[in-house]
Amino acid sequence: MTNRIKFEGLNQLDIFLKLFNMISDLVFLTKVENHHFSYVLANKPAKQLWDLDDNMFGTPLSELLPSYIYHTIEANYQEVLNKKQPVTYVDKVSVKADEQSADNHSDEYDRYWESIITPVINHDGNCTYLLAIVRDITARKQRENELQRVRDRLELLWNSVADAAYFFDTEETFLGVNKSFEQIFGWTKEEILKDKNISIIPNESKKDMKNIIGQLKKGEKIPSHEVQRITKDGRVIDVLASYAPLYDVNGRWEGGVAVYKDITERKKYEEQLKQLAHIDFLTGLPNRAYFYEKLTEEINAARKKQIPFAVLFLDIDKFKNINDTKGHDIGDLLLKEFANRVKNSIRKHDTLARFGGDEFVILIPDLNILGDATEIAERIIQSLEPNWSIGDYNLKITTSIGIAFYSDNNLDEKTILKHADVALYRAKESGRNNYQVY
Ligand code: GH3
Ligand code: MG
Repeated sequence: MTNRIKFEGLNQLDIFLKLFNMISDLVFLTKVENHHFSYVLANKPAKQLWDLDDNMFGTPLSELLPSYIYHTIEANYQEVLNKKQPVTYVDKVSVKADEQSADNHSDEYDRYWESIITPVINHDGNCTYLLAIVRDITARKQRENELQRVRDRLELLWNSVADAAYFFDTEETFLGVNKSFEQIFGWTKEEILKDKNISIIPNESKKDMKNIIGQLKKGEKIPSHEVQRITKDGRVIDVLASYAPLYDVNGRWEGGVAVYKDITERKKYEEQLKQLAHIDFLTGLPNRAYFYEKLTEEINAARKKQIPFAVLFLDIDKFKNINDTKGHDIGDLLLKEFANRVKNSIRKHDTLARFGGDEFVILIPDLNILGDATEIAERIIQSLEPNWSIGDYNLKITTSIGIAFYSDNNLDEKTILKHADVALYRAKESGRNNYQVY
């Protein structure tokens, strides 16, 4: 070893000086007289930093040190004098650009020093010397600053995402929530961290949450799935929830992070789309898809209640003629007017749908008297009698109607419609503008 210390032949003072100069921290001893400070002693690293030598013994610090450093040191020293006990300081010294050597990197512009300043008190109780042990902590500070920057950025990200997110411990207690959580759920961060009884999980989902906790404990992530949660004002909202486990620095499980995407709007939109998918755009009536769903419901209900229902199948007579001679637009207006007239001839709980083209269907539920269905058919035929003034035209429009009853438990949707269609065909055969029962 090249830097092995050789103590042989040295007296105690020599040994002490040797050790003193080997300390990597900067060590200064300053004499205090009438609140003035003068240089006494410094170890080698301290001397190197400030260009000090033994000839400067007794020189005021104000003359030895650059003024911007002296002001900081003086303020610290005065405080220690007043307190008469050791104080630790962290000082940032901004090295001015012209004092930097050309090859210095700009990262080193700010230097951080940590100094422990200890007053040396004489037997009268007066402070006669100050011992300063100073350490360059710039590298540590830079790491801390970098860490703080990372923290600030994560915090910014945490609070900028549109999804509600929160941390929780192994007992499901909230540890932190982001801004979107506050916005979506209505609870403030302070409220939620203070009151352990606040829950956003509906009672019926508490068991699922226990399962999720169990999975997190095993180290599993829970991918996005649809759940319901409760807001502060008691609203139930639909969210896409995902969870991930959290660990402490020793790798022990300590809870999780939950991310909720609010899909209430999407759900509403889906509902609207579903409704739109059930509408015939020309007439605004329910369409064939909706009618099928309604028919299935009614079959199930009729089986339970043992009450028959009827399906009326309508097809406008010689409609193609109108299209061919008066144009498609007139045909369209006619279809709308037809829908209106028929709608006014049925009852509220009857369902009228456009089946396609010039075909319409009507579901008449709860037929205690089968004659009610034929009565409605008659009413429809009558309602079409008054003249049709469509655009510039005065037209005569009639329809044929086929009626089928559901009174046999084994009929399915297709068969009932088939029966109604067969009856309709007979009505067409019988000269149109009439109804026939299957
Ligand atoms: P029938 O008495 O036997 O029913 O004779 P029809 O001429 O009415 O014959 P059919 O019912 O087969 O013709 C339906 C016509 O409806 C055929 C098609 O051109 C027309 N059509 C279907 N959809 C529309 C529509 O949305 N608008 C218009 N204007 N016409 C339509
Ligand atoms: Mg027709």
